[in-house]
Amino acid sequence: MKTCSYSCIYCQLGRTIRTSILRRRYCEPEEVARVVERALENVDRVDYLTFVGDGEPTLYSLLGKAATLVSREFGYRVALISNASLVWRRDVREDSTVFDFVSMKLDAATPSVFRRVNRPDNAIRISAIISGLEELSKEISGILSIETVLVDGVNDGSWHADLLAEALRKVEPYVVYINAPIRPPAEKWVRVPRVDRLRIFAERLSMYLGKHRVILLPLAEIDEVLARASTIESLLEIAKLHPVPLDLALSLLKREHGDKAMEVLRRYLERGSLTIVKYRGREYIRARQQT
Ligand code: SF4
Repeated sequence: MKTCSYSCIYCQLGRTIRTSILRRRYCEPEEVARVVERALENVDRVDYLTFVGDGEPTLYSLLGKAATLVSREFGYRVALISNASLVWRRDVREDSTVFDFVSMKLDAATPSVFRRVNRPDNAIRISAIISGLEELSKEISGILSIETVLVDGVNDGSWHADLLAEALRKVEPYVVYINAPIRPPAEKWVRVPRVDRLRIFAERLSMYLGKHRVILLPLAEIDEVLARASTIESLLEIAKLHPVPLDLALSLLKREHGDKAMEVLRRYLERGSLTIVKYRGREYIRARQQT
């Protein structure tokens, strides 16, 4: 089950059943290291070992220790992808500074947009997040990037771009990535903004932050990442974090199961661990949230 401090309207894992801001010792750092060790057996090239979690990784209270351990043990750079919800906490910032690359989410500049798009836990304030990001920017020696997901008619207006740019000017991130909900979202009404609106938003941010600091990500699928999976177990692991296009899942499973690929997938659908959702004319398999 996803554990998160937000319940973003575009979350590809579905709604958060109960938000939480409690940092917990979910496992020992050594267990994380063993999982990484196993994963590295099937990989030839590594740029970063990235901590993402099934939800928000900074809710793991030993995050900094785990990152330090895997970085020391395997000798690779480490990256963190966080929703920034706890960056106002000193211990979360201390854990974040262990990483060589940190990506923090910032989709909103005002309390009302924040509540509408991220639906945060009641204890979280957007003003505290923006101040926390300013602090982190001073404390971190690695790269700090910001990711902003834009939803049509929710946070993609020019007025909001100006407010976000004001906030980000104080944060001084290395780069800001503008993204959109290209996979099945938690709420059916969520739409990708028109490309011209995405461009205008990116241009307005560039006016404040500099052109080279704002990148509009291409709205393409990351099929090449998925192409490594061929077993139903590896597909399940990926589907926990990213919905997988159904046609792609079937062609990957065919490598191992031939004509029985659909039958294998159907068994998992019947057991309830996977579900099929439709979005923008394409069908996806997604891990079902347990209640
Ligand atoms: S998109 Fe990320 S931050 Fe938002 S609810 Fe999903 S896991 Fe949490």
